[in-house]
Amino acid sequence: MGGRVLSVASECVPLVKTGGLADVVGALPGALAPRGWQMRVLIPAYPGVVAQLGAVREVWAADDLFGGPARLLLGRVAGFEVLALAAEHLFARLGGPYSDGSGDFRDNPERFAALSWVAAEIARAGDGDGWRPDIVHAHDWQGGFAPAYLRYRGVGVPSVLTVHNIAFQGIAGPERLAALRLPPEAFSPEGVEYWGNISALKAGLVAADAITTVSPRYADELMRPEFGLGLEGVISARAGVVQGILNGIDDAVWNPESDPEIVPYAARALAGKAQNRARLVAEFGLGEVAGPLAILVSRLTHQKGIDLVPEAVAAFLAAGGGLCILGAGEPWAEDAMRALAARHPGQVGLRIGYDEGLSHRMFAGGDAVLVPSRFEPCGLTQMMGLRYGAVPVVAAVGGLADTVIGASPASLAAAAATGVVFHPVDALAFAQGLRKLSSIYADRAAWGAMQRRGMKADLGWGTSAARYAALYEGLVRG
Ligand code: ADP
Repeated sequence: MGGRVLSVASECVPLVKTGGLADVVGALPGALAPRGWQMRVLIPAYPGVVAQLGAVREVWAADDLFGGPARLLLGRVAGFEVLALAAEHLFARLGGPYSDGSGDFRDNPERFAALSWVAAEIARAGDGDGWRPDIVHAHDWQGGFAPAYLRYRGVGVPSVLTVHNIAFQGIAGPERLAALRLPPEAFSPEGVEYWGNISALKAGLVAADAITTVSPRYADELMRPEFGLGLEGVISARAGVVQGILNGIDDAVWNPESDPEIVPYAARALAGKAQNRARLVAEFGLGEVAGPLAILVSRLTHQKGIDLVPEAVAAFLAAGGGLCILGAGEPWAEDAMRALAARHPGQVGLRIGYDEGLSHRMFAGGDAVLVPSRFEPCGLTQMMGLRYGAVPVVAAVGGLADTVIGASPASLAAAAATGVVFHPVDALAFAQGLRKLSSIYADRAAWGAMQRRGMKADLGWGTSAARYAALYEGLVRG
């Protein structure tokens, strides 16, 4: 079997990325093509997007899409087809996809409602290029209205909503119902209403035919109040159509044997990794690091547990460990990392900013990657760490718990451990995890074996693509 899928999202690698969502949206078309599913990706034409698409063709236009004219431009990037929604009044803005220096754009609900509206329109009437999807696959709150519009407009194309992060919900005041092109009856607990407001994510959760999230553990967590952020009841009520499907990482991009950013190395010959370590120490201007060299590549936010880092790493550093940090985010977190680096010159190195190339060099040179997230739907950096022999030290949440086999007497005896998993998510447990890491590091044979197991773990898209394909097939068959 097989068919056509319209993927609708606010980010897509290589066109625009602020986080893992973009990696996933950009990877799915290539992962599903061999299974007979042709995917077109609908995203906003932010400044700079169309230029990356090469030759584009206008396939559709509207005079009034949420307050201004809009066009749909069909192009290609990285081997898949993209439908870029050009609408100057919504997307021709400086800054990031969601905000500029002065904060989130106030009309974000309308901006992404427009995107979702066009998704439903393509499902109803085709994209103007004679292409009509069998499935609409919406991502996060920015795609959340798409299943709702399909339902309210009576378009009989099945939909999937994937939750990449429930913390972002697309909230709008109730007075915006009509502006969001929703009928009055939509404003109910069974519809888009969420604690007196409108939620785009909830709209998708109640209307989609199937819900996925990016790890099985996160799927379970979302039904609990600690993680569901007020939507646990909505998700529990739909438990029968919820499943967790792990993200993969792109083996072509994340491969230590062929990565152009690094001195290549293989699991059977880790000497090459030592060269990358020496280069990384030099690049960050550190002194000699006798213990493990840890890395942190992350958005610097509360979710990522950045506030736990200074206290947790104190003993680790005192025992001779090192730390290289790359990230950007909330001002308090950037300041905390600056203060940490200033307290430990030669031992803690810091780059504030976003640097894809440097992140590759860090995974190649690091002995360990730290991921102390309070919640983590899937997480990619622990998988990149596994692939590059940078042993993950992770909190026991979401996709982190699903992808890393924590060191314990049992898992070490069974030669199964690939990292360190700590619980609860606090500075003490994190520090204890680092102590465990250092003691395994001191046993060279055990350490090398653990690195090699991680490097050989199955982290690609194969298994997960098969699960998405099976989901699509089930929906199309009804
Ligand atoms: P999230 O999407 O919540 O930020 P993920 O772990 O799912 O977290 O994905 C983060 C992605 O962004 C990974 O590919 C990671 O390597 C990358 N990344 C995060 N911060 C930086 C940075 N400062 N520089 C380069 N890459 C980064």
